[in-house]
Amino acid sequence: AEDPKRRVLKDVFGFDDFRPGQDAVTEALLAGRHVLAVMPTGAGKSLCYQVPALVLGGLTIVVSPLVALMQDQVAALRLAGVAADTINSSLDRDANVAAWRRVAAGQTRLLYVAPERLMTARMLEALARLDIRLIAVDEAHCISQWGPSFRREYEELSRLRDIFPDVPIIALTATADEATRTDIAGQLFAGRVETLVLGFDRPNIKLGVEAKQDSKRQLLGFVQRHAGRSGIVYCLSRKKTEEMAAFLEKNGVRALAYHAGMSKEAREANQNAFMTLSGVVMVATIAFGMGIDKPDVAYVFHTDLPGSLEAYYQEIGRAGRDGRAAEAHMLFGLGDIRMRRLFIDDEDAPAEHKRRAHGRLDTLIGYCETAQCRRQILLGYFGEPAMPCGNCDNCLDQTPHADGEAEARIVFAA
Ligand code: ADP
Ligand code: MG
Ligand code: ZN
Repeated sequence: AEDPKRRVLKDVFGFDDFRPGQDAVTEALLAGRHVLAVMPTGAGKSLCYQVPALVLGGLTIVVSPLVALMQDQVAALRLAGVAADTINSSLDRDANVAAWRRVAAGQTRLLYVAPERLMTARMLEALARLDIRLIAVDEAHCISQWGPSFRREYEELSRLRDIFPDVPIIALTATADEATRTDIAGQLFAGRVETLVLGFDRPNIKLGVEAKQDSKRQLLGFVQRHAGRSGIVYCLSRKKTEEMAAFLEKNGVRALAYHAGMSKEAREANQNAFMTLSGVVMVATIAFGMGIDKPDVAYVFHTDLPGSLEAYYQEIGRAGRDGRAAEAHMLFGLGDIRMRRLFIDDEDAPAEHKRRAHGRLDTLIGYCETAQCRRQILLGYFGEPAMPCGNCDNCLDQTPHADGEAEARIVFAA
């Protein structure tokens, strides 16, 4: 059976992959736990409550400090076909009444409301009769007296956990400092909360991209430079994982294949060998990796372009969990871009989803082609500002990868 949160992510929002943190936060909320999510601006905090809201059904209340923010979010959700409403001071009485009718009739999935309105006795009483499944407090740093954006109305929100004792609450903020975090956790959750702080950087993973020429030779050279270490090699097709693994074996490397077309027994045997032995190279499709937590994976090598920067980040994150020097290396070729464009075009999805998927592919290509620090591009995409890292091929070697660049430009022009 398919994961319901992934279904929602794909069908409603048109995304194939969760961004860092979104998955874990969603999971925790679905399990009924409170969450404090600290993630940089642009990281995708909204989806951290919108996806669980839609999986849970019933009504989700979203508290947000600014009317303009609420209007934007509601408009975006409606475009995606989600029944969202807001009740706020900028709407006339009739509009607020109409919104409330929809909420009371159980038609609304997400209701955006300002804290001072939510915490009135009348509103709370009316809400108590409805099927509330989740409460999200956005821009939760507004509750902290010590911060510059303190809002008195937010203080009242500390009563929520007692008023709705069975409803999971998520607080979201981009303000990462310790004092603010402790303040939020104390006021909203009396300290009993699962806190997720997300800086996305994995500084021990060296990032590199190389123009694809003879991928077998390029892979073998890379693997031999890391002889004796465990590594993961990602290939686009099942057939290719087997070919590559056989090629490595023939050249004296202990390599195993893994893909969804193999028997369950064979997959488990290979996964076991990879997990328990050291120095095994796993040549796999993306079917391999979910929940793989092996600390000493020295590298992740992509022989083909991944699906998105989100997917790439997730996949390379399997390297270097022990904090030791690790490497993420990708081969990048013209044919891969064509292939990925075809995948998107062939999909049975709304035109708007496809347009955005092409946009995300462009971003990934931008990462491959850049002469700038790759970590800056990667983290920047997730909303995290960064200095040049000194641990990517571009930082380490100032000569740009001219071949790949010229090649790919032609595709864009076509
Ligand atoms: P934040 O509130 O953390 O600043 P938003 O929730 O406004 O960030 O999201 C920032 C941008 O990231 C939005 O354009 C959103 O569509 C995009 N985004 C969020 N999650 C994903 C995802 N899983 N895949 C691709 N794009 C995403
Ligand atoms: Mg936000
Ligand atoms: Zn760099």
